[in-house]
Amino acid sequence: MMCADISALAETLALFEKHGIDYLHIDVMDGVFVPNIMLGTDFCRRLRGMTDIPLDIHLMIVEPEPKIAWFEPRPGDCVTVHAESTKHLHRAVQAAKATGAKAFAALNPATPLSAIEYVMEDIDGALLMLVNPGYAGQKLLPGTPRKIGELRALADSKGLAGFGIQVDGNISFDNIEAITGAGADFLVLGSSSVFDRGLPLEEAILRTIEKASKGFA
Ligand code: ZN
Repeated sequence: MMCADISALAETLALFEKHGIDYLHIDVMDGVFVPNIMLGTDFCRRLRGMTDIPLDIHLMIVEPEPKIAWFEPRPGDCVTVHAESTKHLHRAVQAAKATGAKAFAALNPATPLSAIEYVMEDIDGALLMLVNPGYAGQKLLPGTPRKIGELRALADSKGLAGFGIQVDGNISFDNIEAITGAGADFLVLGSSSVFDRGLPLEEAILRTIEKASKGFA
């Protein structure tokens, strides 16, 4: 949602509802964990008043544990905490789950999968950052499809059939098929796809859905 046209929020949400967008992805940045400040609790509350689409709250903040509840997560929402943002990842994902929302753990591009290996049974899925978090409009880092595939293999080896793999950063019309083909099942979409300013919003949404469904097939 940080890429959305804030002056056309109602129209944007209406199109998302029409085309079955699953979540509104909220990038929360504190200027400490990442070099930028973005979306907060008031914005989430405002969205709640405008739509029933669940929120996917991506916390890029230090020491997220006591702050998770500020966002008033509810069942159906998703809360993501970064493995690098806390000394106690297990405690942080437990705090997320305690709200009734799904709990995801996120990894920056340079962080190995081993950082979440021992909490995978306790989470609903993982978010792989495909760019360094902080800004929209960056280019995908190489090695991404391999990391997605390795995470899927790790989840399979643990018998975690429903383990969600969410990917975030520079997902574009050009790479969306490769990313979904590699095993990702939640795509965070921004300025390189649904919010591509070269296209009308509805056209961009339809094009994204068409490209993604080829990779899922
Ligand atoms: Zn995000």
